[in-house]
Amino acid sequence: MIDFATAGNTSRQSASRRVATVTSLNRMEVGLFMNRREFSQGLLMAVTAGAFVSRSLQSIPQINEKRLVSHLMELAEFGKNPKGGVSRVAYSEADLQGRRYVLGLMKGAGLETRVDAAGNIVGTLTRNTSGLPPIIMGSHIDSVPEGGNYDGDVGSLGAIEVVQTLSEHQVMTRHPLQVMIFQNEEGGTIGSMAASTGLSSKQLDLVANSGKTIRDGIRYIGGDPDHLESARLAPRSFAAYLELHIEQGGVLAAEKINIGVVEGIVGIRDWDVTVTGFANHAGTTPMNQRRDAMLAAARFVDAVNRVVTSVPGRQVGTVGKITALPGAYNVIPGKVVLGFELRDLDDSKIDMLYSAIHEQAQQIAKQTGTSFEFTLTNAIVPAPTDPAIREAVARSARNLGLTTRTMPSGAGHDAQEMARVGPAGMIFIPSRDGISHSPAEYSTPTDIANGSNVLLSTLLALDARP
Ligand SMILES: [Zn+2]
Repeated sequence: MIDFATAGNTSRQSASRRVATVTSLNRMEVGLFMNRREFSQGLLMAVTAGAFVSRSLQSIPQINEKRLVSHLMELAEFGKNPKGGVSRVAYSEADLQGRRYVLGLMKGAGLETRVDAAGNIVGTLTRNTSGLPPIIMGSHIDSVPEGGNYDGDVGSLGAIEVVQTLSEHQVMTRHPLQVMIFQNEEGGTIGSMAASTGLSSKQLDLVANSGKTIRDGIRYIGGDPDHLESARLAPRSFAAYLELHIEQGGVLAAEKINIGVVEGIVGIRDWDVTVTGFANHAGTTPMNQRRDAMLAAARFVDAVNRVVTSVPGRQVGTVGKITALPGAYNVIPGKVVLGFELRDLDDSKIDMLYSAIHEQAQQIAKQTGTSFEFTLTNAIVPAPTDPAIREAVARSARNLGLTTRTMPSGAGHDAQEMARVGPAGMIFIPSRDGISHSPAEYSTPTDIANGSNVLLSTLLALDARP
């Protein structure tokens, strides 16, 4: 029961001291992310592009931590629930209020805003007319019912804070900058999917947590579900997509690492596994004459764990659902339906694990006089992040004196959709005790500021690429 905020204090203090030292170094050493030749090229291009070259190009500005945290607290008011968290589910009144608040912040940061046909909020810095593809930063502000105030909010407000900081320091980037706040991330990355690969009409008919269908929800927040094509981003139409996010797991917090460099968002495959035995009297059927579907299911659960942990890697496998039929104390279950899931960054590893588990199921079936049937119910392919962006994130963090760790994202994010149409990258910051989707979700102001500064530095590094 150690309070992470206190426990991690020493390492963070030294990290911020390092930040201070490195920052003063940067002021002398122009072109933090480029060698001398690259920097001159970048400068030359900026000049040729007619860009505003200010003194700020000579240093990397730092975001305003106090302002960012107060914005997070203000956003937390919309959909605030008595448990201390937030219920700002997509297409609710609270969602609408939160979106209005964020639109105000975006305008304040100098962004020209619009709501696209999918209901995503798009902010653009219009003074850049270089004709280069934009660099997009984004995330979401909708929450799960009784969620927390950091999932999505940190990346959304962090992106706006980055733009605000650049504007204040009069830094003109070569690439136009955009901030995108995607709608209904928690309902299955709906807004970002609409912007990338598109939504099916079946998806538009799904009922969201607010009780509205996605179609009606899009209308409610100012989109136009009949013209979703106009919200689609053409492949490679942006130079990079960057998303700052809380880890939502406990790896960074446990290892006291400042920044997670996300390798990619894992692929997910879900199956319904139906185990069929024979329902019979639980009092009169001897143990050696049973065809117990529950016993077979129990062995299957164990087999999933054994197979998934038998090979090195960060793959995960879970049986998270179970229904036993007919479901009585005095009846041997004749049928059990399990919900089984595998996740990994590598689709072929999921294939390999699945066939090993399938093989185990056949053996269990033989031993128990039952049969197994697998029905694939959901398949999301892995979304690797862009290697050059990963490198830029890692380098930016190191230059800020922060520790890094490369890791997959086990949860879905808007970045996974954006990665399907262009180069995308993600920056993780620690989640206290690894808790998320809960009012207890928390990340420290220092971690939030660190992540936002890495976002800003990464953006400038990518912007300066020849
Ligand atoms: Zn999120």
